[in-house]
Amino acid sequence: MDDKVKNLLERVRGTASYAADAAADGARAAGKRAGQMVDVAKLNVQLFDLNGEYNDILRQLGQVMYDTHRGEVPENDKISQLLAQGDEMAAKIAELKGRISDLKQAQVCPGCGAPCSRGDKFCRHCGGAL
Ligand SMILES: [Zn+2]
Repeated sequence: MDDKVKNLLERVRGTASYAADAAADGARAAGKRAGQMVDVAKLNVQLFDLNGEYNDILRQLGQVMYDTHRGEVPENDKISQLLAQGDEMAAKIAELKGRISDLKQAQVCPGCGAPCSRGDKFCRHCGGAL
């Protein structure tokens, strides 16, 4: 691997990522909102848009890496900026996915309290009627 790209990767690695923590917080918060009536279809549209933005950021990061390989010096905070945006997007996406999955598992078994899918007639855990 060329040194310029290696240095770039080291800088990328050196930038602390809090995306995973943020995502976990998002998922926990999403759990509390499980009872809210939100349209899953609307959330899926939001998720689609966010994924588009996220992919664009990843594409830009790839471009910076390739430009570096070609001998261009990246603007100083360009990479940190893109990484921060990527972290932000990843956290939002994780939160939305959490909310969507909570909504899909909106049913709770009256017998054992296990989360069940909306369309289930019987609990997957204890077999009791829902
Ligand atoms: Zn059950």
